[in-house]
Amino acid sequence: MKITFPHMGNTYIAAKAFFEGLGMDVVIPKPCNKSTLEIGTKCSPESACLPLKVNLGNYLDCIERGADTVILSGSCGPCRFGYYGIVQKEILKDMGYDIDFIIIDPLQDSLKRFLQPIKKLFTGHSLAKIYKVGRAAFQVVKEIDELEYMTFKIRPREKRKYETDTVYADFKREVLKVTGPYEILDVIRKYKQKLLSIDIHRGLNPLKIGIVGEIYTIIEPYVNLNVEQKLGNMGVEVDRSLSISRWIDDNVTRRFFRPGHRENEVERAAKPYIPLCVGGHGRECVGHTLLYSRKGYDGIIQILPFGCMPEIVAESVLPTIRKDTGIPIMTLVVDELTGETGYNTRLEAFVDMILRKKERSKSKCTVDI
Ligand code: SF4
Repeated sequence: MKITFPHMGNTYIAAKAFFEGLGMDVVIPKPCNKSTLEIGTKCSPESACLPLKVNLGNYLDCIERGADTVILSGSCGPCRFGYYGIVQKEILKDMGYDIDFIIIDPLQDSLKRFLQPIKKLFTGHSLAKIYKVGRAAFQVVKEIDELEYMTFKIRPREKRKYETDTVYADFKREVLKVTGPYEILDVIRKYKQKLLSIDIHRGLNPLKIGIVGEIYTIIEPYVNLNVEQKLGNMGVEVDRSLSISRWIDDNVTRRFFRPGHRENEVERAAKPYIPLCVGGHGRECVGHTLLYSRKGYDGIIQILPFGCMPEIVAESVLPTIRKDTGIPIMTLVVDELTGETGYNTRLEAFVDMILRKKERSKSKCTVDI
């Protein structure tokens, strides 16, 4: 069995740590690029969600490099994600590739349903080793997220422009050269130190924008056109509402270790506007928007792929939140035809508008753009 998985932000680093730690044969997907999207778009139904198309582009590249099994997380919520594995398998079959899919559903009500695909994946590996390597890989997930969130804070404050981008790019190159969770953790820690040694404008109080929306789109930089990097280089501090470690905490840890405790802070915040799960992260999008507004953020950017049902529901609620709280909110819809110039213009205009709003309210905020 030679496994692969979809590329989504830095998830590949944690997956690499985990599968290599167990000595499994794995084909790491390359970072998404123009050709990933073009190939995926060509073989997908036109109305399919953008993440499904990009995933297919990843698989086809990895199949060329020998992968024969795809690992994918599943879903049982009211959105198309639950069908991804089945649809992707059929598309690949029609193209002549007989690829096995191992779909790991979130731990909902049935432990048996959750464990079944896991057993298939780990046959021949001892439980103790899976636990040990799994813990180390989860630490990798947490520390990569920490490292990435550090870049969000340092980038708008750096004295030498693009220094954060350079360190981060070096990190991504170096981490691919090492093997297994412990060596990967060493590289992450080394680069955390490098980020901390970047010379910054201390005391600067940049604009703060929260990024909300569909999980894949806000985590995968190719699909969101590097929104965090762009905003950071405009002098804006961003915070992304969803990360892989938070997702694992919500979908695995919380359900596994605290099964009775279902409602979290985000769901509570969203309740007056969206009291029920609408699939994907629609409810979380609304909840995070309200939490950012309470924390004094200056603006919110919602990003969704064209036609994303849960995010359309959330988008319909956001104008009411904007009216109730006064926080500026902008929605960006991306698909395979999104042009970078127009996207950049909208980001610049939004930042400009928030700045002028702040100036009008005579805030002391200073922004270096
Ligand atoms: S959350 Fe949106 S983009 Fe993702 S599968 Fe569901 S409908 Fe598609």
